[in-house]
Amino acid sequence: MSTTTKQRLLEVRNLEVTYASGAAAVRGVDLSLDAGQKLGIAGESGCGKSTLALALLRLLPAGTRTSGEILLDGEDVLRMKWGRVRAVRWAGASIVFQGAMHSLNAVHRIGDQIAEPILLHRKATPAGAKKKTGELLEHVGLPAARADAYPHELSGGQRQRVMIAMALACDPRLVIADEPTTALDVMIQAQILRLIEQLVSEQELGLVMISHDLAVLADTCDRLAVMYAGRVVEEGPARQVYDDARHPYGKALSAAFPRIGDTASRFAPRGLPGDPPDPSALPTGCTFHPRCAVALDACVTQDQALRDAGTGRWAACVHVGAPAAPTAPEATGEAEEARSSTS
Ligand code: ADP
Ligand code: MG
Repeated sequence: MSTTTKQRLLEVRNLEVTYASGAAAVRGVDLSLDAGQKLGIAGESGCGKSTLALALLRLLPAGTRTSGEILLDGEDVLRMKWGRVRAVRWAGASIVFQGAMHSLNAVHRIGDQIAEPILLHRKATPAGAKKKTGELLEHVGLPAARADAYPHELSGGQRQRVMIAMALACDPRLVIADEPTTALDVMIQAQILRLIEQLVSEQELGLVMISHDLAVLADTCDRLAVMYAGRVVEEGPARQVYDDARHPYGKALSAAFPRIGDTASRFAPRGLPGDPPDPSALPTGCTFHPRCAVALDACVTQDQALRDAGTGRWAACVHVGAPAAPTAPEATGEAEEARSSTS
């Protein structure tokens, strides 16, 4: 930190999240993001993506243990007082969730729902909040008059636009979008993605975009982090990770989603049998080894940390780059044996 000249918008260091059930859903995650940058987080269902998103704004259920650091403009979200967290949730960072129908309140007009945080956090007058609400709606491609509509009067894509307007209501610096388009059909999905991209670049926001669909992320983001069993197992420039993944899991994910518009294989990577592990009972060694076609004996016992996989690229696989230790594994084994036999 002392060596960096520019303050990062978001810097996550060694983040660990364990639910009250004992599920270790996020394990030692490091991420960073500058204003104007778009970071994609990919991985199958159950790999800890939503847990990570919720942790960023301390939205996890009571009883969940969280450790590490989440620096938002240099300020650690995990160590903020609650009043500060509430202020940061709208004005510092906001989340667009999947499934807008469930996130919007069915009995309130959408205009009132967008205006609420503006009234609360911006101390706006009712007239000021109404004006800002109209502007936000137009900004996301809806007529200002739609403010009077109830959620059920809007299509899925329109509701997701409302969710985006709401996320932008208090001019946050960071937007976290958790599967923002998964419930939408492909045409609407593309429109919403373009909208998010456009808003992010216009306003120099940071974007964390979560999806199980690597193709969507490769198309939208600058960098991509692939999560497996609560860890980032691969990270790098989005296009490179999509076109030429270095981790066997990244490769499998990318093979599963050849391009936007291919809806046939959306929910399970092709050629990759099985499911991600239960975070309460993780496999030993590299947690991907039971599903990995190129696993070595060492992978069953040795945990793999991220390794240098080329310029700006990282992957947590024994097959990648230079080994972490200067000595070859066999030599180390012999040395161990020699030591223990003489002691
Ligand atoms: P993703 O968003 O990648 O699908 P999640 O973060 O939702 O993954 O879930 C990661 C793991 O944490 C899953 O195994 C899930 O069952 C578990 N999990 C999620 N929420 C809870 C919770 N409230 N209590 C216990 N375990 C949870
Ligand atoms: Mg999720």
